[in-house]
Amino acid sequence: MDGRFTVFAWSPCDATKRGGWTAYYLAKMGAKVTLVDAYGPGNSRATSGDETRGGRSSYGDRGPWAELWTRWANEAIDRWARFDEEWGREMKVRLWFNTGDLIFRAAPEPFTDRTRQLWAELRVPFEAPKVEEVARAYPAINLTGITVVLREPRAGVVRARRACETAYCLLPTDQ
Ligand SMILES: Cc1cc2nc3c(=O)[nH]c(=O)nc-3n(C[C@H](O)[C@H](O)[C@H](O)COP(=O)(O)OP(=O)(O)OC[C@H]3O[C@@H](n4cnc5c(N)ncnc54)[C@H](O)[C@@H]3O)c2cc1C
Repeated sequence: MDGRFTVFAWSPCDATKRGGWTAYYLAKMGAKVTLVDAYGPGNSRATSGDETRGGRSSYGDRGPWAELWTRWANEAIDRWARFDEEWGREMKVRLWFNTGDLIFRAAPEPFTDRTRQLWAELRVPFEAPKVEEVARAYPAINLTGITVVLREPRAGVVRARRACETAYCLLPTDQ
């Protein structure tokens, strides 16, 4: 890639991988990247300078951008897993933890309907278990009044601050 980019901020998060991870992927594509941050990677003022951030692709509530959010978030989940495979041992770090994600609603909503529709269209694995099945599998969860459950098995959690620090370590410093 030909060109120079200046990137502000550090996000490790699911849908867009802003900040430091945008810089990391731009650099990987061959771009020259300058990162600007007043307080450094993963600082406590940053929204990504926290312990964890969820990674999921249930974005049926994003209006005209719902498909893009779903697609990108799903791709981001793959990228986190690939990153750990590629760098985890060498960097002695694991950033992505696949936990699955459960969504509960009292009744179907445009959010749950559109999310299901997008998952089906984009072939994102999901389940819509019966409430009784969920009650058996997760007896600690109070399901009173719940009629809709969606489960995204590929969802998970990113170690946010650690991810910012890791991206910083991997960026070339001699451009
Ligand atoms: C409580 C909370 C929970 C969230 N949960 C999730 C979640 O589960 N999953 C998810 O995907 N997203 C989640 N988000 C959203 C996500 O955290 C943010 O969208 C993402 O971290 C934004 O990243 P960023 O790199 O754009 O900005 P930030 O991480 O906020 O980085 C901004 C950076 O800019 C620097 N800066 C600010 N002003 C200046 C300046 N004048 N000069 C130089 N540097 C400056 C700061 O030091 C900071 O490092 C959550 C957000 C919050 C607040």
